[in-house]
Amino acid sequence: MTRMPAAFVGHGTPMNALDHNRYTQAWSDFGASLPDVPRAVLVVSAHWYVNVTAVTAMRAPRTIHDFYGFPPELFDVRYPAPGDPELAEHVADVVKPTWVGMDHDGWGIDHGTWSVLVHMFPRADVPVLQLSLNAEKDFDWHFDLGARLGALRDEGVLILGSGNVVHNLRLIDWRRPGEGTEWAHRFDDDVKATMGESPSELGRAQSHPDYRMAVPTPDHFLPLAYLAGLASQSQSRSRTIVDGYEMGSLSMTAYVID
Ligand code: ZN
Repeated sequence: MTRMPAAFVGHGTPMNALDHNRYTQAWSDFGASLPDVPRAVLVVSAHWYVNVTAVTAMRAPRTIHDFYGFPPELFDVRYPAPGDPELAEHVADVVKPTWVGMDHDGWGIDHGTWSVLVHMFPRADVPVLQLSLNAEKDFDWHFDLGARLGALRDEGVLILGSGNVVHNLRLIDWRRPGEGTEWAHRFDDDVKATMGESPSELGRAQSHPDYRMAVPTPDHFLPLAYLAGLASQSQSRSRTIVDGYEMGSLSMTAYVID
């Protein structure tokens, strides 16, 4: 079996699930470009940020609508992809000695995942697992866990991080569609240079002068640590498949390693 690419996408607002724009087109094109249909997608989403490391292990994960104040159509979206409990057990084996709990009924498929997968795999026929982001761990721990997931790529599993490199909701300006502040550009450009040249050094972004503005909480940034870890493990660089800014304080950059 050929080694699966891996990716990180900037998912932006939940409305991207219903919209068709250049971001969603890039996600769709990426899904169509894969060498094989993946055995499964293992998603590390910003929206499952909890005090434990867990993987979803249910046969039929529910669609979670974990947001407020959006139109009813968005709450009607269902993403009925199957789970894969056997693969969940295997994920836990692959990353030992890190302990990964089996989540049988707690989580499911959150909007960080389905707002992207409705475009990437619109038929919802590829099994989906989510791996939680353990909020008690630092960047290096997540990077290392990402690297150890690399073995799954050789078994046809697509590993997908879903977050946003720049994600400051407090500073969102709805009057600035398609725009980013200067500091958002500076931080996103710096990360882009690192991911393109030496992803193993992504941790240095934490000391960038704009880090606190761009990453006020780690949840949307940490999914990229997994891709950086995977890139480091396979000694590959990443390429940008789409980029852009929204509402001043979000960046939509998406990366792939082949
Ligand atoms: Zn989000």
